[in-house]
Amino acid sequence: MMLNYSYPLYRPPSEADSLIFQVTLGCSFNECSFCDMYRSKEYSERPWDEVKAEIDVMSKTLPETRRIFLADGDALNLQTDYMKNIVKYLYEKFPNLERISCYAMPMNVLKKTPEELKTLRDAGLNMFYLGIESGSDVILKKVTKGATAATIIRACKKAKDAGYILSCMIILGLGGKTHSKEHIKGTAGVINASAPHYVGALTLYLENGIKEEFKTKFGEPFIPVSDAESLDELEDLIRQIDVRNEVIFRANHGSNAYTVKGTFPQDKQMMLDKISWMKQHPEVVRPTGLRGF
Ligand code: SF4
Repeated sequence: MMLNYSYPLYRPPSEADSLIFQVTLGCSFNECSFCDMYRSKEYSERPWDEVKAEIDVMSKTLPETRRIFLADGDALNLQTDYMKNIVKYLYEKFPNLERISCYAMPMNVLKKTPEELKTLRDAGLNMFYLGIESGSDVILKKVTKGATAATIIRACKKAKDAGYILSCMIILGLGGKTHSKEHIKGTAGVINASAPHYVGALTLYLENGIKEEFKTKFGEPFIPVSDAESLDELEDLIRQIDVRNEVIFRANHGSNAYTVKGTFPQDKQMMLDKISWMKQHPEVVRPTGLRGF
């Protein structure tokens, strides 16, 4: 028996093999202008009897489970005690469990005290996926992210200090042509200041349902970057990332025109060399029909 999910259901690409439990539905913020993931849902928290019943069923169906992802958009919004009970129960029921992760907004992390984050970490919540999107305050405001570069950096540091593995997303093209340079400069700045364990670069892809809202909220004409300009952004970003600790970088998401991956600091030149090569071979671009957010 599989779970009766409330769709749409999302998880990061790297959680493709994880068992997913929906402990919240929707996103408690739901206002980022580029994101239509949970527009059809009102945020709610699922009661313990429902969550427990699903865990009980799945622990019999998939007892070998090693990785679990807690959905939907910001499971970390749950009260700490409730989240702790869920996490502890999962380890009780899945003896081979190694990792529990969830999406987290900067505000979710900042709302918890360091002790609360530590409590959840000690219980076995290991990893957060946190959307940086852009490190430019101008763009963060235009896309109504509800965060600034400073709050994002604080949240990342707080999560890392509490012992979490941090995987962050940034969105190429989010500032359009007009704010491209600023977008990359700010984003590299946030990555350098927070040095997440993983950084994934996606490319802006506006679903039809939110295009108009995105453009209106942007507050000035939005001129999308071309594939070639997106590659320039990727190159500038990689050039400006300067970290001492290892940062695993992936620009291989299905939304991207071009694919690059490597680990900072050691692979920086290799990634730049690959981009130079791709600029000579623009035909390696991912066909637009095969792209999605
Ligand atoms: S990007 Fe994240 S925080 Fe923003 S609306 Fe989408 S799910 Fe919510």
